[in-house]
Amino acid sequence: MKVKVVEDKCIGCGYCESTCSEVFEVEDYSHVKVDKVPEDLVEAVTNAIEGCPTEAIEKIEE
Ligand code: SF4
Repeated sequence: MKVKVVEDKCIGCGYCESTCSEVFEVEDYSHVKVDKVPEDLVEAVTNAIEGCPTEAIEKIEE
């Protein structure tokens, strides 16, 4: 799985980082730190996608 954060939508709430800090880092807004999400983190990243209040995290590849 590959994901990206749409900067214009992100409000920097920190939820994604608290859900999966191996993949997301929030400063002003969230950054994706990895090219491909490791298999064992797919579930956590899926939770971050579903829990993001502004739907700013998009899956760009399965
Ligand atoms: S959960 Fe969504 S809005 Fe919040 S920091 Fe992450 S990408 Fe941004």
